[in-house]
Amino acid sequence: MSAGHDVLPDPGVLPLPGAAATSLGMADRITEAILRNELSLVFQPQADVATGRLCGFEALVRWRLADGTEIPPDLFVPVAEASDAIFVLGEWVLRRACSTAARWLRTGMADVPVAVNVSARQLAEPGLARCVLGILAETGLPASNLKLELTETALLDGSAAVTQCLLELRGAGVQAVLDDFGTGYSSLALLRRVPLEGVKIDRQFVQAMVEQRDSAAIVHAVVSLAHALGLRVVAEGVETRDQLLFLRAYGCDRIQGYLLSRPLAEADVPGFIREIGAPPTAG
Ligand code: C2E
Ligand code: MG
Ligand code: MG
Ligand code: MG
Repeated sequence: MSAGHDVLPDPGVLPLPGAAATSLGMADRITEAILRNELSLVFQPQADVATGRLCGFEALVRWRLADGTEIPPDLFVPVAEASDAIFVLGEWVLRRACSTAARWLRTGMADVPVAVNVSARQLAEPGLARCVLGILAETGLPASNLKLELTETALLDGSAAVTQCLLELRGAGVQAVLDDFGTGYSSLALLRRVPLEGVKIDRQFVQAMVEQRDSAAIVHAVVSLAHALGLRVVAEGVETRDQLLFLRAYGCDRIQGYLLSRPLAEADVPGFIREIGAPPTAG
């Protein structure tokens, strides 16, 4: 392997808008990063509010350069989305998340769903359902152990083809949830039109909730609305016990956040499961 600084992105230039030269080489750089083992997944646990039990993990991608520099996904995912690199990245994440969850299942360590973030461009691509089902077959992960996290933008763009894709996946047993709810152009019609299992309330509302009545009112209303529509609610970015108490009072179903755990390296997941004691179950 060469020193390779030529193929590695300079983190400083990544977020620059209109950095066409950077975006152009991005597909190659992401592919290189995969070959060089620079990408990995971390897994953040989710717990049931009522029982406190582990009920899933969200897979989050990490990019660590050879020199140890970490490039945050908030920087490189949007750049990847501006090129076809998002397809290489997205498929790598899906395959890795599914094979990891399949291994947890096979070894009896955990039988809980893994949630994978899917970008708007992936969802707009006609082959997504086939790709997902292919990866499930290849890795042996049951469809019910995979969830897809979608953003509002992705769903707004997509129209009938997106709904069709999600219906096909749901028919096969793969659920979809709406991520970062409340941050985009939240259309309530979307919740009715798109086949979703649940919504994730964005952490900006969760974190402001205890101090700001308005945010508390939004969280409370979102939980009620979601439940009225038969949707499950996950609160993301839960960091404090007070936030948990509010969420419990509002009837929120699940939490994810530093209060429970930071995202864990794959090697740290067994220790986390041992520590929390309760045998995780599907749900
Ligand atoms: P997201 O899907 O909303 O993921 C939640 C983000 O909140 C993660 O940031 C997570 O580490 C962070 N987080 C979780 N709990 C807490 C908390 O208690 N406090 C605070 N302050 N933060 C918390 P991360 O891993 O940096 O990911 C950022 C975003 O990058 C994700 O937001 C998602 O939109 C995107 N992303 C990450 N992995 C992937 C991927 O594999 N594919 C795609 N398309 N996007 C990804
Ligand atoms: Mg997410
Ligand atoms: Mg989110
Ligand atoms: Mg977010």
